[in-house]
Amino acid sequence: MPTIQQNIDLLPYNTFKIQASAKHFTEIRSEREAIDLFTSEIFNTEKHLFLGGGSNILLTKDFDGIVVRNAIKGVSVVSENESNITLKVGAGENWHDFVCYCVDKNYGGIENLSLIPGTVGAAPMQNIGAYGVEIKESIDYVEAIQINTGKKVIFSKEQCEFGYRESIFKQKVRDQYFISSVTLTLTKDNHHHFNITYGAIADTLTSQGHDLKALTVKKISDAVIAIRQSKLPDPKVIGNAGSFFKNPSVSEDIFVLIKQSYVNVPSFPGENGLIKIPGGWLIEQSGWKGKTFDNIGVHKQQALVLVNYGGGNGEKIWELAMEIQKSVREKFNIILHPEVNVI
Ligand SMILES: Cc1cc2nc3c(=O)[nH]c(=O)nc-3n(C[C@H](O)[C@H](O)[C@H](O)COP(=O)(O)OP(=O)(O)OC[C@H]3O[C@@H](n4cnc5c(N)ncnc54)[C@H](O)[C@@H]3O)c2cc1C
Repeated sequence: MPTIQQNIDLLPYNTFKIQASAKHFTEIRSEREAIDLFTSEIFNTEKHLFLGGGSNILLTKDFDGIVVRNAIKGVSVVSENESNITLKVGAGENWHDFVCYCVDKNYGGIENLSLIPGTVGAAPMQNIGAYGVEIKESIDYVEAIQINTGKKVIFSKEQCEFGYRESIFKQKVRDQYFISSVTLTLTKDNHHHFNITYGAIADTLTSQGHDLKALTVKKISDAVIAIRQSKLPDPKVIGNAGSFFKNPSVSEDIFVLIKQSYVNVPSFPGENGLIKIPGGWLIEQSGWKGKTFDNIGVHKQQALVLVNYGGGNGEKIWELAMEIQKSVREKFNIILHPEVNVI
């Protein structure tokens, strides 16, 4: 049974750097510990919050229950042939460290997802994505412990019901399963699927002097890291949880209507034939970019990111998010949905 601590300050455990306390706090290092915890009296009489790196949550108050931090480690080879390798990764591994491990070994498929904070276990939760790639493309299956039976369940890629920043874990079975490992297949050689169509990857590679016909996993990862470092606030310096809202999708009709007033409205293809409009652009057009309110605000380079300059209050950040949502709705008749998990 893992040790359970009382009244723990959660500030070191969330990248928004919000001060809030947990009534109980524990770390899980193995599936056995998870099962022991889920069958314990304390777990079954308290509400729970599963936590990875805390980079996709906003704490709006103290947590009156048990916070369960995932610390299950380990990377093992499931199978391997000349072209592919399948790896099973402990859910508590740091995502970017795992990407670096793959890049060093020249395993391809997740290099565009370099420098995303958080754990491997939370990555399927919202089907992390960046620069034209989503983790669902590499996932084979996700293993999770069902909390009310203590049983291990395997979710195939299809059963994960992945969508844009969505999965079954964020919706239908939310809080019912503790993800313990993720199994992915990556390419070893002949990386046919380098994706440099999105964002500024091709420009960055060219400005770094690389030949676009001679790309490597490492070159793409380095370019992604350079782009991210140039435009996203480092949570070690300024508290934030990345994009606060998802990019909304609209129908062709609505898009045409917006384009009549805003000829330069940016867009990219969304799911099911819809058109995605960058949420950051909508927030910027609504006048919020760079706005600061005491010690919280909207980031000056990327309006989709809300920030805590230090000592900020989670409830106030949530109020700001709701003000932004309201003003974008009034101006564009578009509802921005939070990407961050609000606790
Ligand atoms: C600077 C910055 C940049 C970012 N950029 C991106 C980006 O480009 N693309 C992107 O997709 N995201 C991005 N994010 C968001 C975030 O990094 C990802 O969502 C990440 O996967 C969250 O991992 P985490 O371990 O920190 O999750 P946490 O914040 O700890 O948890 C997130 C949610 O998952 C649940 N959860 C966590 N672990 C488990 C588990 N083992 N079992 C069940 N449920 C669990 C939690 O209860 C919570 O609801 C960014 C965040 C920051 C701060």
